[in-house]
Amino acid sequence: MAEKVIIIGSGPAGATAAIYTARASLAPLLIAGPAVGGQVAVSSEVGNYPGFPEDISGLELSQLMIKQAERFGTRVEMDIVTAVDLSKRPFKVATYSGEYETQALIIASGGSPRKLGVPGEAEFAGRGVSYCATCDGFFYTGKEIVMVGGGDAAVEEAMFLTRYATHVQVIHRRNQLRAEKLLQERAFANDKISFVWNTVVTGITGDSAVTGINVRNVLTGKEDLIPTKGVFAAIGWEPNTSFLAGQLMLHDNGYVVADKDGRTSVEGVWAAGDVCDWVYRQIATSVGSGAKVGIQAEAYIAKLEERANPPRKE
Ligand code: NAP
Repeated sequence: MAEKVIIIGSGPAGATAAIYTARASLAPLLIAGPAVGGQVAVSSEVGNYPGFPEDISGLELSQLMIKQAERFGTRVEMDIVTAVDLSKRPFKVATYSGEYETQALIIASGGSPRKLGVPGEAEFAGRGVSYCATCDGFFYTGKEIVMVGGGDAAVEEAMFLTRYATHVQVIHRRNQLRAEKLLQERAFANDKISFVWNTVVTGITGDSAVTGINVRNVLTGKEDLIPTKGVFAAIGWEPNTSFLAGQLMLHDNGYVVADKDGRTSVEGVWAAGDVCDWVYRQIATSVGSGAKVGIQAEAYIAKLEERANPPRKE
């Protein structure tokens, strides 16, 4: 039998959509993706989500959200969606371990770290190249490492990495950080962090593991080699939409086209969170969009049920 609602993704948007649809007695099926909690689960500290006056770990926050969704009847499947068929109703959702049918679909599959796209990056992935400070920071205890990027994620993760590394050089392509002022001030005051400005990484070198990075100063053109044991990159995100190809409208940059209520180009399918937002990408905004699509899906299912079982005229 078809599900009423399937939610793809277990980050703040997916978890919130699950809370709303579960509380509406729709018993949503939430297909969690590679790890429960999405990208938030690998954020070291979250300090800007209302209700938590002290920082809370991203992992703890995401676990609380999922626990709340389960409390109201959400079923969580640890699985990854590989394809959808939105051409017929009920919609089909294929995963690594099976196939589901659903009347309504909420896409909250978030994004993945953008790659540097330089020689050596793929070769040394997991052997000195990482996109997740909280996952891999421990392995760099007592070592000198670099962080590439200048946004909130790069600066926050560079600070987190100083718990383990003796020194973190932040390599940024401009001479000004994009990160919020408070994070910048904290990073500038941290004597285990230094900055290499106006510089891009052109390659990653090593033997059995990373030993250094090739860099180029974008103003002078001067090339250099920076010895390092670890290269962390936090240079933004790409939406996780490959499984949607040809099924609904995507923007040129790959994000799902959705209106202010999260409606996509296919009726009965909504998008929420980072999969359709390349501007704000905050936990708070993802939670807001998850709530909207949850409410939308509830009204949609009610309408379908009313159509299937019209009220009897007395
Ligand atoms: P972001 O804000 O897009 O910053 C990406 C950084 O990487 C920028 O500094 C950018 O340089 C640089 N960059 C992009 N492509 C590059 C390339 N090919 N080579 C070298 N550098 C490159 O991404 P983010 O830091 O992941 O943050 C994304 C969103 O999540 C933001 O809205 C952010 O506020 C939010 N976030 C918030 C927190 C928090 O509030 N604590 C933590 C993490 C993320 P330019 O500056 O020159 O463009």
